[in-house]
Amino acid sequence: MKVSLLIRVILLTTITIAAPHPTLAVNCELQYVSPDKFLGIWSDHKTNEDKCKSIAKRTLDAYQFDNRQESWTNQNILWNPPLRMEVLNSMKKDDYGVAVGKGVFMIANSYLDDSLSEGTLAHELTHIQDRRQLDGGSMLGFL
Ligand SMILES: [Zn+2]
Repeated sequence: MKVSLLIRVILLTTITIAAPHPTLAVNCELQYVSPDKFLGIWSDHKTNEDKCKSIAKRTLDAYQFDNRQESWTNQNILWNPPLRMEVLNSMKKDDYGVAVGKGVFMIANSYLDDSLSEGTLAHELTHIQDRRQLDGGSMLGFL
């Protein structure tokens, strides 16, 4: 296990204990599924296909960026199960984006237009990749 990952595991554990997961939005509907079926975009409002495609591209680019940075050897658990992305109007103003567990990523719709959202995408998706890899056995191997 790389040191950077270890540090993030410790941070993640601390954050998880300190902040309970937000509840999932209940009124979401599936708006779009990426051609590779990995990414589903859900929303609490109608989102047209062009916008969904643009969000999907940015998200998948960020996911691949994280993947290259981490050089994960177990690619299978990175891409299965699929990722559920929730683009929300109903998100609280100070909650820009949050990864929940291993398969859900929530982001405020309005925040997607902010240039800082690029970094948030990459940051939060790393949490999902870490959790998937740790559940794949790396943590036990390390301990
Ligand atoms: Zn974080």
